[in-house]
Amino acid sequence: AVVTRFAPSPTGYLHIGGARTALFNWLYARGRGGKFLLRIEDTDRARSTPEASAAILKGMDWLGLDFDGEVISQFDRADRHAEVANELLSKGAAYKCFSTQDEIETFREAARAAGTSTHFQSPWRGADPSSYPDAPYVVRLKSATTGETVIHDEVQGDVRIKNENLDDMVLLRSDGTPVYMLAVVVDDHDMGVTHVIRGDDHLNNAARQIGIYSAMGWDLPVYAHIPLIHGPDGKKLSKRHGALGVEEYQAMGYCSAGMRNYLARLGWSHGDDEFFSDAQAKEWFGTDGIGKSPARFDFKKLENICGQHNAVTDDAALLHEIQLYRQSAGLPALNDVQSQRLKAALYCLKERAKTFPELLDKAHFALIEGPVDVEDKAAKHLDTVSRGILRTLTPQLQNVSWTRDELEAVLNRFAEENGMKFGKLAGPLRAALAGRAATPSVFDMMLVLGRDVSLDRLNQAAS
Ligand code: GLU
Repeated sequence: AVVTRFAPSPTGYLHIGGARTALFNWLYARGRGGKFLLRIEDTDRARSTPEASAAILKGMDWLGLDFDGEVISQFDRADRHAEVANELLSKGAAYKCFSTQDEIETFREAARAAGTSTHFQSPWRGADPSSYPDAPYVVRLKSATTGETVIHDEVQGDVRIKNENLDDMVLLRSDGTPVYMLAVVVDDHDMGVTHVIRGDDHLNNAARQIGIYSAMGWDLPVYAHIPLIHGPDGKKLSKRHGALGVEEYQAMGYCSAGMRNYLARLGWSHGDDEFFSDAQAKEWFGTDGIGKSPARFDFKKLENICGQHNAVTDDAALLHEIQLYRQSAGLPALNDVQSQRLKAALYCLKERAKTFPELLDKAHFALIEGPVDVEDKAAKHLDTVSRGILRTLTPQLQNVSWTRDELEAVLNRFAEENGMKFGKLAGPLRAALAGRAATPSVFDMMLVLGRDVSLDRLNQAAS
């Protein structure tokens, strides 16, 4: 069975690139009835923070990337990593190296002067244990010195690295702590990871990691190293291109389904499909659709895709997500009346709104409680003449049945009887009901607000 994992280092927020890596692993596993695991790579104690771990979990939660089992802390597994290093020692696949930093530096300087490889070649590699001094040592892997290491990569193809270019890497430091490279391999092995999908900045690490797998006689995972994300200008995505943290996208009001869809398309494609559901993405996703060149982040595309998802999301789910958006953006929660009205209004708003702020702006009429503030652009529709018109109209709405057909009939008849185009009547109605010149249709607003609130607002505006 397929087992994938996401293995972020908790040193900041969950950035867009990390979220995409997580998403790819999630899609790969979920589409194959496999498992998707989360491992926090918190071995760098100086840079890892609990806040960063929390931000990663929060970001994944928002994106709906659920993982199997418990969160695994890499740091908690340090004893196990050391155990494997010691096993390699006892198998003779690793050795104790007593060289001091000074000695290593001296080696390198000499190599530089002689124009030979500066990869440290430890004199302890073949040493007889009986000659070991009573001094601090590191444990090094006895790497192959000839031949090549081939990374069979699902995206990059076969990547060959000459073994003479790899030095005998340190597995355990002199204080007995494991290095990162060892931890990754041991964890992936113990977790039963079958597929490693990650950024191609880890491609070189793969060569070293393969060395550890072979030394232990463990099966290799399938590798897929994906090109990093670039900005619209073709340079590596960075702060100056815009937001990098996933939570910022939530706070900007992008819907999570749209975000998933867009991130899936960043570096992966399935024919010409741009807009798709989670179910489709899970079914379609595979490493064969991952491109070899970096994808460019395109905000316009993200917006469009989010808009399309908003249009097909059911009202209750959309309302829920809007509340979460407000929370993440530091806005007060919508109260019951506002939520009910918003939910009732969604049918006429969600088709056109790309982001939640845009949707809430269109929903302004439904969220107002108490008197309506009339903005300048709308105020001209409430001059003396228009107020007179509203005064005549309002009583006629008192007893009609409050349906779209009936309201249309009454308002059209009223416009005709008073010798005006319906458009002339709409201005004052918009101003009265929403305080704005641009609003959803008058009928939509009246139906969402209901008779009492609508008539209150018309009366208020008329007086
Ligand atoms: N912790 C690494 C990172 O955040 C990922 C390592 C891996 O996926 O093997 O870049």
